[in-house]
Amino acid sequence: MNRLTSLLFLLLVFTSASAKEAIHFGVFAYMGVEKTREKYQPLVDYLNTKLDNRVVLDILTQEAMDQKIAKGELDIATTNPTHFLVVRNEYPLSGVLATLISVSEDGKPTSKLGGVIFVRPESSIYTLEDIKGKTVETPSLKHMGGFRSQAYELYKNGIDILNESKKIIENHGSHQEVVHDVLMRKADVGFIRDGILEEMIAHGEIRTGDVRVIQEKDRSEYPYRVSTQLYPEWPVFALPHTKESDTKAFVAALFSLQPTEKGMRESGIYGYTLPADYLSVEELARHLRLPPFDHAPDITLLDIWKRYKIELIVSVAALLLVLIYYTREQRRKKLFESLLSNIGDGVYGVNHEGKCTWINAQALKMIGYSEKEVLDKDQHALFHHHKMTHEVYDESECPIYRTLNDRITRTSEEYLIRRDGSFFPVSLTVASAEDGAIVVFRDITEEKTIQETLQNSELSLKKAQAIAHMGSWEFDIITNKLIWSDEIYHIFEIDPLQFRASYEAFVHAIHPEDRENVNRVYLYSLQNRQKYTITHRLLMEDGRIKWVREVGDTEYDKEGNAILSRGTVQDITEQVLINQELLETKSKLETANAALKLKNNQLKELAMIDGLTQIANRRFFDQMYEKSYKEVLRDHKTLAILMIDVDHFKRYNDNYGHAKGDACLIAIAKVLKKSLKRPSDVIARYGGEEFVVLLKSIDFEGAKQVSLSLVKAVEGLKISHEYSSAADHITISIGMAFKEAEEEITKESLLKKADDALYEAKAGGRNRVSVI
Ligand code: GH3
Ligand code: MG
Ligand code: MG
Repeated sequence: MNRLTSLLFLLLVFTSASAKEAIHFGVFAYMGVEKTREKYQPLVDYLNTKLDNRVVLDILTQEAMDQKIAKGELDIATTNPTHFLVVRNEYPLSGVLATLISVSEDGKPTSKLGGVIFVRPESSIYTLEDIKGKTVETPSLKHMGGFRSQAYELYKNGIDILNESKKIIENHGSHQEVVHDVLMRKADVGFIRDGILEEMIAHGEIRTGDVRVIQEKDRSEYPYRVSTQLYPEWPVFALPHTKESDTKAFVAALFSLQPTEKGMRESGIYGYTLPADYLSVEELARHLRLPPFDHAPDITLLDIWKRYKIELIVSVAALLLVLIYYTREQRRKKLFESLLSNIGDGVYGVNHEGKCTWINAQALKMIGYSEKEVLDKDQHALFHHHKMTHEVYDESECPIYRTLNDRITRTSEEYLIRRDGSFFPVSLTVASAEDGAIVVFRDITEEKTIQETLQNSELSLKKAQAIAHMGSWEFDIITNKLIWSDEIYHIFEIDPLQFRASYEAFVHAIHPEDRENVNRVYLYSLQNRQKYTITHRLLMEDGRIKWVREVGDTEYDKEGNAILSRGTVQDITEQVLINQELLETKSKLETANAALKLKNNQLKELAMIDGLTQIANRRFFDQMYEKSYKEVLRDHKTLAILMIDVDHFKRYNDNYGHAKGDACLIAIAKVLKKSLKRPSDVIARYGGEEFVVLLKSIDFEGAKQVSLSLVKAVEGLKISHEYSSAADHITISIGMAFKEAEEEITKESLLKKADDALYEAKAGGRNRVSVI
């Protein structure tokens, strides 16, 4: 039984303990912790009389209050209306349970609060507009009556006080300090909550005339001087975890509070009334972008229009202008781009750092890079760092960099380097532009080649002219301008640096004796429109004579007027000299030839050949006979001499003519020679129509046979001879003498014997051989 009693007791104790749990009442320390505690302690004391001393006062900054609410360490709280909005947004609250009724020094109760904007009486600030650019002091930016209500008032008048004031001084939450500071000229304008001024006047801290309130509202309905709209006083609210019974008890105690309660009058708390409407506060918070409305703006288009009418009109107009400009720029850009891409030249832009800002298609094609590879790259390093001479360019020498520096437009011949490393010559122009420079370049490979070819051919022409000693000239008849090639100056021996080509100089160079002729030939060619060629002399300063051959021709216009003559002058002095030499040599040769002929004839006479029959002559025979005779005597050889004579040849000559006689003799000589077979046999023309034959080492019969064969051979010619007594054709008679091997006989005797034998043959009837 005892046990049961004690258990019940414990239960009772616990129940009563839980019933006596503390109610944590949080209050925003809007006047600083101490002052706020002073103000609220009497209220809490009163509440504790009603709630079994369970109410625990907690004076907190807004941040501390937020933290405690988050941790569930507060049950009931009161704070200024804007802070309430933040808390309400973050946590599910009970809603406002009651609204404070405050009381002024002179005992007037109100459940509303407003803000006061004040200045020193002598201040030049009269309107809200005048506050712009001034120093403002406030107890705290977080104060509803001390800042936010004023800020919203200014906002509604188009002034953003945070940005448009010179400076905002925030003290430690003391409204009184704000008043002092403004009076002490530490600030131009003071923001405080309503009631403060009245309180300070009541306490004798200031006098009524010490301050002037800006935009003061009508006070008939309201106990305090005020510059702003009025907002509901502080709300009292419960946190969700708070027991309903506790809440009810708390609210009931608040509502039952009487202003006559101990300490209440001093604290300025008149009592609590039914919850006010906090919409006006919400509106203020939204517009001032105060938490919880500091993230997404809740501004309607109409708001914007209302506030920024002029700005909007100006902006839209500006936007339109920009749009028009942009469209035009776009069009221009497009035109520019199409121009750039269709232009035959490469074009690109360079900024002040030397980087390529844009480039046209033609340029890319020429250098073989893609746009991506070129844009924003150092163009000099990429494709322009070599000179025409293949030396590496220093950046400082680069015409592009130079133009970037001095803004002077430059045109030069350069080499650009393709992506594959090959070079190509370009004519390059750099012009300064607003944001750097513009480079235009043209591939001049072809021009260069042509130029080189031209230079080469000019050089070869010069060389050829020098080799041929031939110069060319051109005479413009209309302008009277004469041009000579270098070789003409050389031929005329005129220094081109001292005398220019002129007709006078030309005439002067001509040999005086040839001048008239040269002039005549030229005029004649003009009259007859014919090409002319003339060879004439030049007379040099030192008296030397040169020979030149000139060839010239003239061009005529449609009317037939001569307009241009051109020609060549060739120094032929050498040829002329050679020709003269040749002529001289030729005549010398002719003389020599004649002498030679003479000599030849003499030689012929001296020679051993018979001129007519071309067989050996009598001289030869005599020498041979002597030689052979010595030989046969020495060697004991036989020797036969055949003396041959044409029969009745006088008659033949007389009847057939001497020419036929010659031909007959030639034929006889030929057949006789042919009939002799042995190399040692000798035949010669002995004289007239007589021949002689020597046969060495032959026997008598052999010699006789040879003789007979010779007679036969001549007969065989069948040369008709009607006037011969021997036959009807040409015949011969032969007288043969024979020396036996051992026989000793003189050569004269032997020859005589042959002669005698011939005589016998003639006498015997001719056409036969006779032997002695
Ligand atoms: P025979 O039979 O007795 O010898 O009579 P023949 O007329 O031949 O003798 P003759 O001595 O009287 O005449 C020789 C002639 O030969 C004289 C001359 O007219 C001729 N005769 C001599 N030499 C040449 C010659 O070179 N050319 C020509 N056509 N005739 C010549
Ligand atoms: Mg004779
Ligand atoms: Mg004869």
